[in-house]
Amino acid sequence: MIVVKSERELEKMRRAGALVADVMQSVVKVAAPGLTTGELDALAEAGITAAGAIPAFKGYRGFPASLCTSLNSQVVHGIPGGRVLQEGDLLSLDLGAIVEGYYGDMAVTVAIGEVSEEARRLLRVGRESLEAGIARVRADGRLTDISHAVQTVAEAAGFSVVRDFAGHGIGREMHEDPQILNFGAPGRGPRLKKGMVLAIEPMVNLGDYRVRTEEDGWTVVTVDGELSVHFEHTVAVTSNGPEVLTDPGRRIE
Ligand code: MG
Repeated sequence: MIVVKSERELEKMRRAGALVADVMQSVVKVAAPGLTTGELDALAEAGITAAGAIPAFKGYRGFPASLCTSLNSQVVHGIPGGRVLQEGDLLSLDLGAIVEGYYGDMAVTVAIGEVSEEARRLLRVGRESLEAGIARVRADGRLTDISHAVQTVAEAAGFSVVRDFAGHGIGREMHEDPQILNFGAPGRGPRLKKGMVLAIEPMVNLGDYRVRTEEDGWTVVTVDGELSVHFEHTVAVTSNGPEVLTDPGRRIE
């Protein structure tokens, strides 16, 4: 069942989204060659706890950190640690927080220093595929219109979307119904209603879409070893279209 949030609940989710966005921005700002992924995790955790909130990922099914840091051919769920960021890396950051019992969740991939032209194009298309999905969020719209829009943008650029992981509803739980695939035919699935909140999160690969999980039980990598990017926003369905809770400065169209 897809939970519809009340205006009071949405207020809490706005606060959760704004905090995640704020902390993410502080992490992105400092991410540079020479820093370790563990240092970024410590910064993220401190930002969330200083606000009186709870890091959503730490301890989730035993995940050991507050921030996921996935480099280059790592797709999602990379565990931060001693790895030193290097010029030319693509770094995917995924962060979640719980504020007054409600979750916010977002991800962004950033270039560390100068990256290849191909990597820059992948970054741009990954971002555009998320935006295309968000643009399909509207009351009375269909869920897979989002999926189809994401896939269309990624594949038109010659890239692929990961199929083994998906976006999700979000609220009092990090993962609520519905599952939001990043591929598929439009016009299917449940009708969207005002008050639903969705975490839309395309993972776009330079090569083919196949992924596997490494022996640590968490880190997901591309099978072909090619680059991958990940972008995610928590988005509420309103009567005026999408409200991006993890990008609170943005106007509702
Ligand atoms: Mg998510």
